[in-house]
Amino acid sequence: MISLACCGQQAREINKFIIGSLGGSAMAGLNPTVDVVVRNGQLVLENGVVSGAIAIRDGKIVGITDNDCAPPASEVIDAAGQVIMPGLVDPHSHIWEPTHYPEREDYLSGSQLAASGGITTMIEMPLSVPPVSDAAAFRFKEEIVSSKSVVDVAFWGALIEKSTGHYKELNDCGCVAYKVFIPYASPDYPHSPDYALLKAMEEISRFNGLVGVHAENADILFNRQKEFEEKGIFNGSAHEQARPEIAEVEAISRVILFAEHTGCRLHICHLSTVKARQLIADARKRGVDVTVETCPHYLVLDTDDLEKHHGFAKCNPPLRSPENKEQLWDMLKAGEFDMIGTDHTPYTDNDRLQHGDNIWKMPPGIGGMDLMLPLMLDEGYHKRGVSLETLAQLLATNPARRFDLPHKGSIKLGNDADLVLVNPEAEWTYSWKASYAKAKCTRSPFEGRKMKGRVEQTLVRGKTVYRNREILVEPGFGQLNLRRNA
Ligand SMILES: [Zn+2]
Repeated sequence: MISLACCGQQAREINKFIIGSLGGSAMAGLNPTVDVVVRNGQLVLENGVVSGAIAIRDGKIVGITDNDCAPPASEVIDAAGQVIMPGLVDPHSHIWEPTHYPEREDYLSGSQLAASGGITTMIEMPLSVPPVSDAAAFRFKEEIVSSKSVVDVAFWGALIEKSTGHYKELNDCGCVAYKVFIPYASPDYPHSPDYALLKAMEEISRFNGLVGVHAENADILFNRQKEFEEKGIFNGSAHEQARPEIAEVEAISRVILFAEHTGCRLHICHLSTVKARQLIADARKRGVDVTVETCPHYLVLDTDDLEKHHGFAKCNPPLRSPENKEQLWDMLKAGEFDMIGTDHTPYTDNDRLQHGDNIWKMPPGIGGMDLMLPLMLDEGYHKRGVSLETLAQLLATNPARRFDLPHKGSIKLGNDADLVLVNPEAEWTYSWKASYAKAKCTRSPFEGRKMKGRVEQTLVRGKTVYRNREILVEPGFGQLNLRRNA
């Protein structure tokens, strides 16, 4: 419950919500001017949606008031007809800079794409070249962010054997979590065999760190794919059959046991199958500290899309059946997901087309950081009645909490003024070409998709970064957020 007074005078209760403001220098005095006021919007607060205004000073939210009560401001944003949500915190962005493949994405294009989708903080995966496996690699990426990103960023650290002995150092640098691949990954980012993972979790648990897992059984995937290749089967849905649900369920079960044994906090990245539902529920009942993420593509695409779009809908874990997709929504409505992440992984058309029809050789991943919120408004809010408060929790509040970014993720006094203004009724058609993505993949499974719900404006720390298809800040406006600030 927000409990500070309106206009520095007295608390007022409007529609059950006490709306108030920070006192002191921010709002007191004869002429309490603030930097920005956003007024007339529907504010998605943690305890409900309410009509009102947000006052911003020095990048922070200093007032949440009745519209009549908003202080004078240098800049007034009229949000009539719009919903104002907390800026999204994407727990799973792959910008992958520096990389061998600069044509796919970089921090400028990726962060602009994020801003255009209402993402104000990207928690970026450590799969650059070199991976974020020590302080030097961390600093290397920090330089890039400070010169290029237009939204705020936090870093995952690399859980690879090379990082052994460096986890405390990475925590001191400010990494918010550590990513491991149980399946075979790439030469630049090898998977961790069981013993290495167990030892890393022991090391990371000592500073109460968080381990995020790509959970699929390496041996099953490797051999099943070999069988398909030998038989010359290349059709789209074969990709799903070659990475069966049991491979994912088994790996989740194993890593839950490791977390239970080591006491390490655990995050399951991009869950694709409902078959792991009971396993996770039981682990939680036993007190294992585990959170679960899914991605927009598992909620809105399925094996029919994999068949239709072939390698362009290839991602890992794979898209599952239409029935599974609907059951993921059941899990979401039952509160069994903690968050949704983009797992944004873009490719050029040529990255896939150069392999002919050989789906096994095509790189996995689906791009679309700008689509997470519109897709969730369209498929979640409009089509399945998921509330705006639930979406705000999944897309902003919960990831900010879990990844120790306490000033992010909710419209709350004292928090960073990271806001996204959306028109929930706007109908539009997606064009990858018109987006900020660097790799203009014309055959994305989302190309030409009609959606209801559009991002109109994005503010990061009180500054409008994106409005009406335009980026309004210079590269480098984005800041790196560190765990030690928690
Ligand atoms: Zn990933």
